[in-house]
Amino acid sequence: MADIDQAQSQAFIAALEAGDLEGVRRAPKAEAHTHGPYGGDRDWLRERTGRDIPPLSEPLASLSQMDAWTAEYVSDLFKGADGRRLGWEGAFARARRDGLTRVEFGEDVWMITQGVGEPADLLARIEAARTAIHPEIEWVPQLGFSRHCKRSWLWHWLTPFLEAGGWRVLDLSGDEHAQPIETFQPLYRACKDKGLRLKAHVGEWGVADDVWRAVEVLELDEVQHGIAAADSPQVMRFLADHGVVLNVCPTSNLLLGRVPSLKDHPIRALYDAGVRVTINSDDTLVFGVGVSEEFLALHQAGVFDAGELDQIRRWSLEAKPQPPLAN
Ligand SMILES: [Zn+2]
Repeated sequence: MADIDQAQSQAFIAALEAGDLEGVRRAPKAEAHTHGPYGGDRDWLRERTGRDIPPLSEPLASLSQMDAWTAEYVSDLFKGADGRRLGWEGAFARARRDGLTRVEFGEDVWMITQGVGEPADLLARIEAARTAIHPEIEWVPQLGFSRHCKRSWLWHWLTPFLEAGGWRVLDLSGDEHAQPIETFQPLYRACKDKGLRLKAHVGEWGVADDVWRAVEVLELDEVQHGIAAADSPQVMRFLADHGVVLNVCPTSNLLLGRVPSLKDHPIRALYDAGVRVTINSDDTLVFGVGVSEEFLALHQAGVFDAGELDQIRRWSLEAKPQPPLAN
């Protein structure tokens, strides 16, 4: 390790052990699982809009309850071209406060129907938000699919994004039980051919075999959540052997009732089985925490010691998508 990396590790470990959130925030880290505007900085948005968005305090029972919460408190803020800009700027403001040196997020391909710009405009406008708020960060443009959408619609919306180029990562989110994972295989193949790094939300509401199947069928590089894999030693071995990264969001799992407590979070079993994990916030506005608070909470709950958390922090920096292929 270079001297500078070693000094950063030492400072991060010392901050965790002292319970020093500001010190944890200062350490470089990357986030691969956050949903753009929903990952915004609450204080920054309150100063800009006068609206105080109260994060969840009690666990919810379902994703539809979370959708109802976002509809009540935030959705209208991020509508239209000005709303999207506010959301992206809020996301970069939170990334700055959180000490992120790289962040992966973007827009769902459906956004092309919302009159907020063509694919190349969207790239340029998110890039302008980055430059205005946090010019030092590397932003990795990510495309998204929603699991309930018909494949024919997804093809229709995706095509201009692939033609425009510049998008580097693909994610699939929403109700895991909406459609079989095979539905998305041709779309993932097309994105892989364009050099995109492939991720999907799986194993949050589903079971261990769903994680294995999604990795095989979609040829995933990374899994969003994937925590159900901890129920199966075989699936964990498969993930470890294939170097598949799990981008885990502990507080989200707790507040959506996916785990009984932070102390018993399966991220420990995944780590012990040799699966490469990263620690992420999912939706800072909803769950009330950034990546730095997640690191501190896992340390305080006794899930990992500070050295292990530093290794996970360094993994996040290494799991870097490649530049896109030329069009
Ligand atoms: Zn997510």
